[in-house]
This record gives sequence, structure tokens and C-alpha cells, in this order.
Amino acid sequence: MMLSRSQKYIMVLFSVLMMCFPVVLLHAQTVKHVVVIDPAHGGEDTGVVGVDKIAEKDLTLAIAQALKKELAQNANLEVVLTRDSDKTVSLAERRKNILKIQPAIVLSLHINAGFGKTSSGFEMYYPGFQEKDESLKKKTRKGDAGDEKKYLSDTVRLSRLVQKNLDGLFPRKGRGLREADVPLGEDLALPVLTVEMGFATNPEEKKKLESGKIQKDIARALAKSIKSFF
Ligand SMILES: [Zn+2]
Repeated sequence: MMLSRSQKYIMVLFSVLMMCFPVVLLHAQTVKHVVVIDPAHGGEDTGVVGVDKIAEKDLTLAIAQALKKELAQNANLEVVLTRDSDKTVSLAERRKNILKIQPAIVLSLHINAGFGKTSSGFEMYYPGFQEKDESLKKKTRKGDAGDEKKYLSDTVRLSRLVQKNLDGLFPRKGRGLREADVPLGEDLALPVLTVEMGFATNPEEKKKLESGKIQKDIARALAKSIKSFF
């Protein structure tokens, strides 16, 4: 059988592709990032309960489950929830679990509460950067600050992506990244970012947060942020 020049070319291309294919597959299998999503509260711990009696614990779980579904389509991501139903899971248990899993990132989901009805938007927290920065300087002299620096800069990088993607859902209402104690992430030496998604004390925003469509939109925005992070 005589092969034309272009047929030969196609055959060569095909064999090269066949040789590369298993390598690509192997690569996709080996690079798997573990992401822990923490739907805050649960069970006896309701979190903030609005006038309509719908609790924070239910909203965080709904959004976390939607987020897990969004991320499940990514072969290089493994998503673990700190709870997948309405049950009480203590902070200590969550921390213990996270330490065991050693994920690349932890995203803790909350709904905010304000003093009045007008507070709105989203807010993010991570364990105090300045304070860590001081201890970091001390440690640098000892020479073991590399990891600490990395998890802090990872947290900031993730927060910027979340900020960018959530801004579209809460227009011009991002309250930015704040330094605060995050008991869940304290001393874990892992990037732990807390996202307070809107205010349960703001009737308009609460209504939005209860909508299945908005929950999916938030999940999609968070999924996009996580995918861009890796
Ligand atoms: Zn909360």
C-alpha cells in the first residue's frame, strides 16, 4: 500500500500522540490537590438564625455541597467536606481531621451577622498576617520560616481570587480581607481562608442566600477561584 505524504504525516502524528497519551493520563492522576471545604456550624450549633428561622448551618451546607459538585468535574481535585449532613462536629474534630488530611487549602464557609439590618457584602478572614509576620522574622533567623511564608502567601493569593470572583455576585460590596483569629486554622500551618458570604441580618441579602440559584452562583464563583489557584 502506498501512503501519500500527508497520510504518512498523519500516521506519525498519531503514533506520537498515542505514545504521549499515557504520560498525560499519568500526570493527571499523580497531581491531585486535596481541598477541604468546611460548612461551618451544624447540628446543635445553628450559627446565625435569621427572622425567617433559616439557620446559617443549613446555608453553609447547601453552598458547600454545591461547591463540591462543581469541583467534582475536576480530575485533579479531591474535595473533602468537614461535614456532609446536619450534624454536630466540634471545632477540635474538624481541626483533627484537617491535620490528618493535610490538604492544600481549607475554605471555611460562614454567613455573616451585623448589628443592624443594613450591613451587606462578603468578608474574608485569615489568621493575623502581621502577628505571624513578626514571628516569621524571628524564625527566619532560625531558618525555618519557608513553609509558614508559603501558606500565608497562599492564603492571600486564594483570597484575592475569591474576592475577584465574588465581587460579581455582591457588586462593590466586598469588604475585603481582614486579619482575624480563625480558630479553625490556628497553628495548623495550612492555608485556611474563612469566607463570610453575605449577611443573615440583612433581609434582602438573606433572601438571596436562600435562593438555590444564588447558592449555585456562589459555589461556581468559589469553584472558579479554587481552580485558578492550582
Ligand atoms: Zn458562622
